[in-house]
Amino acid sequence: MHTTDAFVGLSCVDCGETFDAETATHRCPDCDGILDPAYDYDRIDLTPEDLQARPFDSMWRYEELLPFTSGAAVSLGEGATPLVECPGLAEAMGVGRVLLKDEGMNPTGTFKDRGQAAAMTAAREHGATDVALNSAGNAGQAAAAYAARAELDAHVYLPSRSGFTQKAMTEVHGADLTVTDPIDGNSQIGDSGRAYAEAMDENPDWYSAKTFVTPYRHEGKKTMALEVLEQLDWEAPDAVVYPTGGGVGLVGMHKAAREVRDLGWTDDLIPMYAAQATGCAPIVNAYKAGADRHEPLSDDEIDTACGGIAIPDPGASPLILDAIRESDGGAVANTDHEILDAAIEVARVEGLEMGATCAAAAAGAFTLAEEGELGSDDTVVLLNTGAGNKDVDTLRAHLGETEAAADGDAA
Ligand SMILES: *Cc1c(COP(=O)(O)O)cnc(C)c1O
Ligand SMILES: [Zn+2]
Repeated sequence: MHTTDAFVGLSCVDCGETFDAETATHRCPDCDGILDPAYDYDRIDLTPEDLQARPFDSMWRYEELLPFTSGAAVSLGEGATPLVECPGLAEAMGVGRVLLKDEGMNPTGTFKDRGQAAAMTAAREHGATDVALNSAGNAGQAAAAYAARAELDAHVYLPSRSGFTQKAMTEVHGADLTVTDPIDGNSQIGDSGRAYAEAMDENPDWYSAKTFVTPYRHEGKKTMALEVLEQLDWEAPDAVVYPTGGGVGLVGMHKAAREVRDLGWTDDLIPMYAAQATGCAPIVNAYKAGADRHEPLSDDEIDTACGGIAIPDPGASPLILDAIRESDGGAVANTDHEILDAAIEVARVEGLEMGATCAAAAAGAFTLAEEGELGSDDTVVLLNTGAGNKDVDTLRAHLGETEAAADGDAA
């Protein structure tokens, strides 16, 4: 395999055992725990000065901190996204600085590309022919794109509630798409998960690209933190507010922040804040209850238009909660109304387009600032996980309702 020098294997977050990445490909062979890429940090031959000399062109410029070499990468130029100054939002929130990390600039319009670039690289390195996953939508679309790039056959399971763009582009990329039927209203991520699991039982040679089943998606998403820190001259911001579903990005970013702190590139960790929708907030509830893991919701308890974070049973919640607490961050939930209002405010004040799901980060930051959790000198990064144009229907519908309500008031 085309692995990097410092990558030593996969270590289980539950039992602590380390496995050879050649043979262990997904969950822990001993206990079924999540596997996490491990490194010998003494062998990392990279400094911030070295990075300065490299073009800011893709996430693979951090290859020394990734399992696979850039030469072996299945890449569409993902990563290297802008960190955009938002003075109008800073003023509105009463904080020092607001910066928006615009992951909507990725090839398929979300940060899921970083995870799928790493996962498809692993799949190809392991000689897979078919890859499979279920997803709320964006990961399915990204997997379809990267599988096409890697010349792999992709099998994507989406719930009926996922967006038209995500379903359409999954098929445009040539993947085999299964949309799970609505039984009572729309089907949810759990329904697509059951369809995926049945298909995996029937096709044991398929290679999974599912959240925290492959060890590589959170590893690819580490690069978001590496970029944010580099864009801030290796000075950690006071908060990253992150729209949290399965927590892949939050866990990955925290891992990277820990790595570069331990390498001496930064002094501090990045306080990680999980933002969720009130209609599906298992992480926020667990954080506020002081719990070590979440209480799962059932599919029919989900009540939010923010599909990307409508994850009622995030299996990696212990890792997410650890990351929040270790980094001295927090968790915040807002109503859909507040979230969609925030998306429209960002679009009008800054001209930036946030997806409906992503705007949970903006709404969350407003709430954290109101609560005094974010202060007047703080530098706050909003993780815009995906492009606004993935969710035009939801955003336009909200605008229509808001305008109708305003007209009603005026009349
Ligand atoms: C998947 C997704 C999320 C949630 O991501 P996790 O890292 O699994 O928490 C947030 N926003 C968008 C747009 C997504 O597609
Ligand atoms: Zn284990």
